[in-house]
Amino acid sequence: MVRQLRAEGITDAVVLQAMSEVPRDRFVASELAEVAHEPRPLPIGEGQTISSPWIVARMIEALGLDGTEHVLEVGTGSGYAAAVLSRCAREVVTIEANAELVHSARQALAGAGCGNVEVLHGDGTDGAPWQAPFDAIMVSAMAPQRIPSALVDQLADAGTLVCPVGRRRQGHLVRLQHGRVEPLVPATFVPLRSPPGR
Ligand code: SAH
Repeated sequence: MVRQLRAEGITDAVVLQAMSEVPRDRFVASELAEVAHEPRPLPIGEGQTISSPWIVARMIEALGLDGTEHVLEVGTGSGYAAAVLSRCAREVVTIEANAELVHSARQALAGAGCGNVEVLHGDGTDGAPWQAPFDAIMVSAMAPQRIPSALVDQLADAGTLVCPVGRRRQGHLVRLQHGRVEPLVPATFVPLRSPPGR
């Protein structure tokens, strides 16, 4: 996997090391374990997918982590990206809206020995204000129009946030740093759900 990620332009040694250490097969159903190392998204149940290794690596690389950070992820899904993040940062808080996935991600993360990850059940568009500010925020589902404002508010002044923005196949990964938003690469994710009425 690491050779392939390097060939696809991932250069950050910390990210490559973390990707090589986290067993992706632990984060998918046992029927999929054999294909867990293929470079593509995979279904994780509840109509959701685990992102491709490349996009996980690209997003974490874009955060520029040095191992000291307090990180928020929105959209835990299988817990795979949180596991990789946890090896690149000090601690990770990750929020998932789907109760089944919260349960399975907690188990998978414990099984992979990720003691510095806290999985919260709730609406990630609200962030986790009692844990803010975050040095880095990674949104693992696609916001339809813009980065949710509560997340921008919970980012530390010198922090970095990455979030896919767009609809269906028209998405882009964007990075917010020092108040500036820059587009990184085209990307397609499952949609970030908003609670009814918002
Ligand atoms: N990072 C994940 C993949 C995420 S898929 C992994 O490595 O497996 C996107 C996830 O975001 C899905 O599990 C979906 O249930 C969750 N999600 C969508 N909208 C959300 C919201 N508003 N709050 C929290 N989680 C949300």
